[in-house]
Amino acid sequence: MFVSTPRTEASILHADLDSFYASVEQRDDSSLRGRPVIVGGGVVLAASYEAKAFGIRTPMNGRDALRLCPQAVVVHPRFSAYSDASKAVFEIFRDTTPLVEGISIDEAFLDVGGLRRIAGPAADIGQRLRERVRDEVGLPITVGIASTKFLAKVASAVAKPDGLLLVPPGGELKFLHPLPVERLCGVGAVTARKLHDHGIRTIGEMADVGETVLVSMLGGGAGRHLHDLSWARDPRPVHVGRRRRSIGSQRALGRRPKSAEDIDAIVVGIVERLGKRLRAAHRVSRTVVLRMRFDDFTRATRSHTLYESTARNDAILGVARRLVAGATPMIGERGLTLIGLSLTNLENDDAVQLALPFDADANGALDVTIDSLRDRFGTAAVTRAVLLGRDQGMVVPMLPD
Ligand SMILES: [Mg+2]
Repeated sequence: MFVSTPRTEASILHADLDSFYASVEQRDDSSLRGRPVIVGGGVVLAASYEAKAFGIRTPMNGRDALRLCPQAVVVHPRFSAYSDASKAVFEIFRDTTPLVEGISIDEAFLDVGGLRRIAGPAADIGQRLRERVRDEVGLPITVGIASTKFLAKVASAVAKPDGLLLVPPGGELKFLHPLPVERLCGVGAVTARKLHDHGIRTIGEMADVGETVLVSMLGGGAGRHLHDLSWARDPRPVHVGRRRRSIGSQRALGRRPKSAEDIDAIVVGIVERLGKRLRAAHRVSRTVVLRMRFDDFTRATRSHTLYESTARNDAILGVARRLVAGATPMIGERGLTLIGLSLTNLENDDAVQLALPFDADANGALDVTIDSLRDRFGTAAVTRAVLLGRDQGMVVPMLPD
């Protein structure tokens, strides 16, 4: 793991897409632009800035939101579109600097320290990043820049929407102290009310009362933490996540009896999802692990290691089916309630020698073709015959593998 060191220059960027889901909807449907848009149904998952102007927040009950703004357009979430947009934006992040710490699907810290000579000052890098995300992905993104992660995040929140704000080194307290205490992460409604009751409304007033008073008001942990933040003390470096060592997926089956065909269809579906994630991450796997849970909540695993690494669905599925076949007597006796597969022994796909002959890799080419069709037309666009009419479960977006 690479850990960057604390510094006295403003070279940490917090890049955060604005109203991410709602912005993707407005990008893809021009009739939604300039209008209050709510993504979600029962609960508001995202609201466009036009909707936020009416007081709509996330998460909020959908009915309450519509009472605040009856003319809002409610759209259903399209998670695959958000996942694609996120991947494209993270590619731009990684193209900007190798030091990227993903926080969620729409937000990351970027450390651009040391890039000054090749890429110019941090503010220029941040502005170029914003232009690229706008031009290449079609989305507004706000960038805060400071000497610490905490201040960079506060800066991006202050600069929203579609803005850029740099806190100059030495100007940290001048920026921070006039802000309301609610700007500090860790100050929720309850803490804010306690502080207000003591006449403390700004971060500067909070800094001035001192640590002892804050600890007596809020308790030791919170008091000391908020005191440090109010003096802009945050030594946390940007952490670049280690790459995953395995990729897995599982399905709970319930207690009703399952036929061999039911189980096989679930295994096929899991292999297709895992294979696609493996190829999207440009990785190959050598070991397939089958995980099972039974009626009595006991568990068992079976694994098989291949002679050579692969990212091909047919090779992975062949191993998975052999593992399931070997466990069939156990499944019959104990009743299967959960089944999962993990792919481990991962390597980057460029580190692996292609097995000859190349032209025998027709199935690999088919996987890649199906992946690209699904990327363009959605997961359900192309499916195996055994999966037709079967619920594959909700696909929830996540950070790229
Ligand atoms: Mg965001």
